[in-house]
Amino acid sequence: MSHTRADFDQYMVPNYAPAAFVPVRGAGSRVWDQDGREYVDLTGGIAVNALGHCHPALVFALNEQGSKLWHLSNAFTNEPALDLAQKLVDATFAGRVFFCNSGAEANEAALKLARRAAIERFGDKKHKVLSALNSFHGRTFFTVCVGGQPKYSDGFGPKPAGIEYFEYNNLAALEALIDDDTACVIIEPIQGEGGVVPATAAFIAGVRALCDRHHAFLIFDEVQSGAGRTGSLYAYQEFGVTPDILTSAKGIGGGFPLGCMLTTHDIAKHLAVGTHGTTYGGNPLACAVGNALLDVVNTPVVLAGVKAKRALFVAALNQINEKYAVFADVRGMGLLIGAELSPAFAGRAKDLLNLAVKESLMILMAGPNVIRFAPSLVITDEDIQEAMQRFERAVAAFTV
Ligand SMILES: *Cc1c(COP(=O)(O)O)cnc(C)c1O
Repeated sequence: MSHTRADFDQYMVPNYAPAAFVPVRGAGSRVWDQDGREYVDLTGGIAVNALGHCHPALVFALNEQGSKLWHLSNAFTNEPALDLAQKLVDATFAGRVFFCNSGAEANEAALKLARRAAIERFGDKKHKVLSALNSFHGRTFFTVCVGGQPKYSDGFGPKPAGIEYFEYNNLAALEALIDDDTACVIIEPIQGEGGVVPATAAFIAGVRALCDRHHAFLIFDEVQSGAGRTGSLYAYQEFGVTPDILTSAKGIGGGFPLGCMLTTHDIAKHLAVGTHGTTYGGNPLACAVGNALLDVVNTPVVLAGVKAKRALFVAALNQINEKYAVFADVRGMGLLIGAELSPAFAGRAKDLLNLAVKESLMILMAGPNVIRFAPSLVITDEDIQEAMQRFERAVAAFTV
């Protein structure tokens, strides 16, 4: 049965506003719509398709596990989950892993763990959560309230208490808020939805020191920055600052719903049997895909490739900018790239995105002023070149 974009408005809850075309197939960094029109995809499913569309290693893992064992519940453990947990422990600071299905669920687990551990160690008063303004941590009610964008959490009734906000990259602002009642500080090493804003090295190091001074847990939300996106497996490794709890989702499943929370053995003890859980979390099918993804991504060739490909993007964007003076800033880390519109074009990122679609190019926004690119980590140099040519045509049309 064939459907059109109009059917979306007839059958779906209206909380999204999808593009006018309907994709039906993808391979690598290319996508085809119902009419057979081909697009270059620089959205990567919002930093999810770390290996592009239908990467052979992921398709193989999915098919192989798909005829073996899909789901058990957490009344049983399984081999793919144990494999993936061991790999994550070996590759990071973590001693223990909790699996779930999304970024919001990973952050929900991290925040619950931080409060639980702080309260068990220091008493009921130690439950304050400190979070950055303009941050994004997911859409469950706890995580959206911890997120620093009230427009996403207003209008749903009473919010959980004990959450306060500081300005990102402003250490003095955090220092003024943090105290011995603080259970945790949560930050994105690069604010993704908030406009592709990287933390400064001094800020990240300062946050770690303040957390240590007040026995507060430091949570890095690496849902968008993780799984190789920066050219390290996790962005904390780029900064050389280790969190107590780290959350990962998006890229770690390569397109299959998978999230996880990493922490140390000591902190993990506070999530004793029965304190937290999820039906699907860590199911064999998702973990089999996660294993295949990690085996490909966590290699020197792919991680070094991320940095080389970033250089190609940045050079092309700077060249376009020299001609059209459209950007005030090109920033980000690895293959999470933000291009902020110059004041003359303020608020018009959506117009540029629509013009890109006309040139058969898929790109993202990060707020009304920033164009965001989050392509496959293994996008070919030819696809980058083709995409930047299409993007230049969109920019030319945008600036007339
Ligand atoms: C996307 C995102 C989330 C939410 O992830 P979902 O899988 O949509 O729940 C949380 N934190 C950050 C930094 C994100 O980019």
